[in-house]
Amino acid sequence: MNYMLSDDRCVHALSADEEPILRVPDGATVSVKTKDCYENTLRAENDPRGPYTGPAGGGNPATGPIFVEGAMPGDTLACEILSIEVGEYASMRISGRGGFLRDRVTAPIVRCIPLRDGFGELAGVRMPLDPMIGVIGVAPETGAIDTETPGAHGGNMDARLIRAGSTLYLPVFHEGALLALGDVHAKMGDGEMCICGLECPAVVTLRVSVIRGRREQWPVLRGPDGSFSVLASGETLEKAARLAADAMLDFLQRRTQIDVNELILLMSLVCHLEVCQVVDPLITARVRLEGGAMPGLAF
Ligand code: CA
Ligand code: CA
Repeated sequence: MNYMLSDDRCVHALSADEEPILRVPDGATVSVKTKDCYENTLRAENDPRGPYTGPAGGGNPATGPIFVEGAMPGDTLACEILSIEVGEYASMRISGRGGFLRDRVTAPIVRCIPLRDGFGELAGVRMPLDPMIGVIGVAPETGAIDTETPGAHGGNMDARLIRAGSTLYLPVFHEGALLALGDVHAKMGDGEMCICGLECPAVVTLRVSVIRGRREQWPVLRGPDGSFSVLASGETLEKAARLAADAMLDFLQRRTQIDVNELILLMSLVCHLEVCQVVDPLITARVRLEGGAMPGLAF
């Protein structure tokens, strides 16, 4: 059965205290309507209301939470991304207050970009869209984590590879997992240097399944090419990178009989240390094992 979820109710934090708005069985397919990170309010270019400052409670609305029946602490929630349909426009803005290059910004600007026939265009540069999900996560182990911040629960990881055809494995900390998602980008480069991608409303269709009795420490993503990426977040890029590397070594040790030292040698050959984003309250890095490098490897 295919469930539909409107964007009428969104959360700005992932927490076990948020009341679920939909209950689905293990294995259900859900089509989730999502708002863009500006709450679908940043529509007109150079909006006369001035630069967007965000509604009270912050931007990055995430639709949910979705209660997945059967999911219990210690399990994994597999989210198979079946499709991401983007809206008709995307928005971007920079203000000089955030982003990797903020000190180089000379004026705040807003751009609203039509999305047509799978392409967008900015400053005369036409580019194919490659939709991805910026915020997707479950209720964290303790407390509430705002939807600006990534972590072991997922959240605002801004990983370009979370796109149709991939499966995201999230650790479950609470009954029902309490999944929420939003902040879709029609396109984004690794790093998300200016602090936004092509921010757009979307409909994400995903299948949610429970893997019982085991979970990884950080979210893991399987790509359509068979690659596996561990997504880890930390205060600095170096810390995030080290956390991702440690977690990939643990992931491989649990799934192969290869000696740890040989695994470390192998990681230097077939694993790639990559940047998801450098602009959120915590930085997110990934270590990606090439697709096909270890045939038969499964989550
Ligand atoms: Ca984001
Ligand atoms: Ca965003």
